[in-house]
Amino acid sequence: MTKRKAEPLGEYHSKRDFQVTAEPKGARPRANAAGDLLYVIQKHQASHLHYDFRLEWRGVLLSWAIPKGPSLDPSLKRLAAQVEDHPLEYGGFEGVIPEGEYGGGTVMLWDRGTWTPDEPDVDASLKKGELKFSLQGEKLRGSWVLVRTKFGQSDKRPSDKPQWLLIKHRDRYASTDDILVEQPRSVLSKRLLEEIVVKPQKTSARL
Ligand code: MN
Repeated sequence: MTKRKAEPLGEYHSKRDFQVTAEPKGARPRANAAGDLLYVIQKHQASHLHYDFRLEWRGVLLSWAIPKGPSLDPSLKRLAAQVEDHPLEYGGFEGVIPEGEYGGGTVMLWDRGTWTPDEPDVDASLKKGELKFSLQGEKLRGSWVLVRTKFGQSDKRPSDKPQWLLIKHRDRYASTDDILVEQPRSVLSKRLLEEIVVKPQKTSARL
């Protein structure tokens, strides 16, 4: 953890070969030109299907892998395993990561927008393990919370990453509809995951 803080994006870079993968290298943390804080979810068919939930903070994308994806139902808590910070540029990525590479498989930009923390001191919320925020996405909106349930023991084993729960708060955007089923397409290209696999041209949004 301390090492990762000293070297922003070090873990992200060490896991990837940018000669092979089309994922953005994103050399260093940078401010989002738009001023608002970026929010994205990428649907990622790797060895296991999951949804990568990312929130811009301090020039990088804080990232969580959510095996079952987000739910609009406040009674459903979705496990969110924190993973390495990603560069801001990753928020525009959609395409295929070659077989055998880290995270090899297909990435779809499933939702995108901005987020607003309830408390301005996000670092304190993260430290406390309770981050309340609202999302202004194309699919997900309204009030949410991430609650940490387990600290990570080591950066070496994925199973030892900090674990959180992503929970929808009750508001007018709460619903028992399954948004993963009802809105399966990319917000960038309108393609389904299978269509990205078939035509693996690299697409990326401007940020
Ligand atoms: Mn992933």
